[in-house]
Amino acid sequence: MATGAGRFAPSPSADLHIGNLRTAVLAWLFARSTGRRFLMRVDDLDDRTHADIAARQLDDLAAIGLTWDEPAQWQTAHPQRYHDVVAELADRGLLYECYCSRRDIQQAPRAPHAPQGAYPGTCRDLTDAARAARGEETGRPPALRLRTDVITYTVHDVLHGEYTGIVDDFVVRRGDGVAAYNLAVVVDDAAQGIDQVVRGDDLLASSPRQAYLARLLGHPEPVYAHVALVLNEDGARLAKRDGAVTLAEIGMPRALEQIAESLGFRATTLEGMLDEFDADRLPRHPWVYRPDS
Ligand code: GLU
Repeated sequence: MATGAGRFAPSPSADLHIGNLRTAVLAWLFARSTGRRFLMRVDDLDDRTHADIAARQLDDLAAIGLTWDEPAQWQTAHPQRYHDVVAELADRGLLYECYCSRRDIQQAPRAPHAPQGAYPGTCRDLTDAARAARGEETGRPPALRLRTDVITYTVHDVLHGEYTGIVDDFVVRRGDGVAAYNLAVVVDDAAQGIDQVVRGDDLLASSPRQAYLARLLGHPEPVYAHVALVLNEDGARLAKRDGAVTLAEIGMPRALEQIAESLGFRATTLEGMLDEFDADRLPRHPWVYRPDS
């Protein structure tokens, strides 16, 4: 049995829907079934003004029966944690200032084989003078990017096996001075002793960047399990307009029953699901959600 921890880390951008709750249940099941602690983190760096949404998310997670072993941590509560790591990377000569806007990046000329979605390297090798000129020209404070020495990186995922994805010179601190998601996740997971990351498979493509950064910082790669998302009947990501999708709308115990059914469990309680849990038997396809009528 492991001694580390698993976690669920919602961003407080909207109330959790049944798909998010299902991912949280899976994260809890993965953690508990492997003897890990389970932690909760509010990823509020991007949604700093949404404390009310975060509070409702935590209430909903508790209402479906999830328990976590420490009080939830809020990312905005410890900016120094990110500062220190950014300073360390800067000292090691691994960061550079980037003045590119999203549009600059889209329009930049690319080498013929450059991977789609990768930063084209516009600001990577500027001379000090050219960098200062870019700064003056744009009038924007720079983001800080990581100078990476790979193009791709391979992670191991419990559900996806070996997964190789792009590692470009990704942003670690945004132009507004706030830690970027990829840095914050890695720093927080390490600081909280998290060694198992269970989350939606929309984040699978981010895991090579995060694992690469973890390695640079001397942290072990967590065990990853990227679980299939929930879709609406049109095959699009589930959203509020799809009808009754939040806990307030679905109610208990129905929400947990729906989650249990979607995962193929006979039990409809969390403890019962834990008894039946077998990662190898989890459905690998997205769950198409049809609200009860
Ligand atoms: N906060 C991120 C989200 O809600 C998830 C972070 C993670 O699980 O690594 O999309």
